[in-house]
Amino acid sequence: MDNINKKACVVTFGCQQNEADSEKIKGVLASMGYDIIDGDMTADVSNKFGEFANPGDLGGCDVIIMNTCAVREHAELKAFSRTGQLKHYKNKNKDLLIGICGCMIEQEHVVEYIKNSFPYVDFIFGAREIHRLPEIINQALTSKKRILDKTECDGEVIVEDVPVLRDSQFEAKVPIMYGCDNFCSYCVVPHVRGRERSRNKDKILEEVCGLVSSGCKDITLLGQNVNSYKNPDPANPDYNFTDLLSDIIKIDGDYWVRFITSHPKDVPDRLITLMNENKKLANHFHLPVQAGSDRILKLMNRKYTREYYLDLVEKLRKNVEDIAITSDIIVGFPSETDEDFEDTLDIIEKAQFDNIFPFIYSKRKNTPAAEMEDIVPRKEKTDRFERLVKLQNEISVKKNKTYEGRTVKTLVESVYKKLYGGDKADKSDGGYLAGRTSTHKLVIFRGGIDLIGSFVNVKINEGRLHGLYGEICN
Ligand code: SAH
Ligand code: SF4
Repeated sequence: MDNINKKACVVTFGCQQNEADSEKIKGVLASMGYDIIDGDMTADVSNKFGEFANPGDLGGCDVIIMNTCAVREHAELKAFSRTGQLKHYKNKNKDLLIGICGCMIEQEHVVEYIKNSFPYVDFIFGAREIHRLPEIINQALTSKKRILDKTECDGEVIVEDVPVLRDSQFEAKVPIMYGCDNFCSYCVVPHVRGRERSRNKDKILEEVCGLVSSGCKDITLLGQNVNSYKNPDPANPDYNFTDLLSDIIKIDGDYWVRFITSHPKDVPDRLITLMNENKKLANHFHLPVQAGSDRILKLMNRKYTREYYLDLVEKLRKNVEDIAITSDIIVGFPSETDEDFEDTLDIIEKAQFDNIFPFIYSKRKNTPAAEMEDIVPRKEKTDRFERLVKLQNEISVKKNKTYEGRTVKTLVESVYKKLYGGDKADKSDGGYLAGRTSTHKLVIFRGGIDLIGSFVNVKINEGRLHGLYGEICN
């Protein structure tokens, strides 16, 4: 296929797993000869600094692919609205190909909606079909017909060696398992991403080795529930997530390994010990609690109690020095009472999270929670959400203040040009850089751009809500 001088763009919504899938889509498109252009149309959905990005100009593209997220209604509406905007590009260029993939198109009602409402969408494909993209694009180009029926692929098979075009040379995402078997009652993920399946450990180790030797400094192992990783090799069936981490950190080099996400029900003591013993394992645990009331946790099918969760947090804090713990919280789950919500505030107070990602419950089709009576008024949900954010902000500031006077190893990520609402002192200044600590705190300091991608030591002068402000020292 001659794609010289042709351009393609992938717009990514949602989680890091989707970002990793998009890196594969870009890799496949690049291997087909397309130039990959940056066109962030996701605005508030996925920008990691919380900044509203300007929709990019995708006018010169020959292929545009929307990689969608179905976890909350907001993400779906955003993807539909952005897909609506693509009509303008198709009107200007009839040869433009528009494709949609990701979690949304794993739902029949969404495919129907796309068929009927977006006649200019040319093809859809599943996250398990990325390797088939050349064939799908070729077919769309030659047949001039819409390809809106996903091919049935074997959900168990993990296709390896798909080309990857990474967004960063020094921070990499490495999926280690796909799908989820937990079936939390509110969550669409098990329905759209399928059953849990893990990659072969040798393939993962090979990938991490390659990344480290090419100078990568921060590697995030990805999965909906990384702790249930199980090597699929029948010759080595007991090899689990802690074994994988132990093997990864044997790889020589100066780098951090992170992992996301862990389900609180599956955190073995061996993993906690390993985190304490080895500094290559980033000092951060993302441990979504979702709610603080036992009644709601049960309705959510989370399989643990608040007491179990708080014991786990205590164990982590006691055994891993200086560990940062972050969490996800859902407010306004069906039937959540004031008392239930007070339990959520209480667990936040007791756990003293470094940060949380709060969400207002979003009803998802075909999930058990969608059948539960949702009696909490919208206004009550937003009030609860605001109270929760206020409490966490106080804790986050307090936590960040404990860094004042300390010197922290920091991976320099980028020029700092982000504005945080209302905080005039944070105004853009070309001389500032942004980095991350092992505990995943944002660090802001002066320095030259040649430092991007390397580790520096930063003495922290001030801890604020969104990050740590300091100066480089040697
Ligand atoms: N596998 C991960 C991530 C799942 S999705 C985990 O178990 O933590 C990321 C977060 O989205 C979840 O932790 C949850 O807090 C939130 N979420 C999932 N479904 C939701 C829904 N229906 N409404 C609101 N938030 C939801
Ligand atoms: Fe969804 Fe629960 Fe699986 Fe996380 S563990 S993806 S919240 S079902």
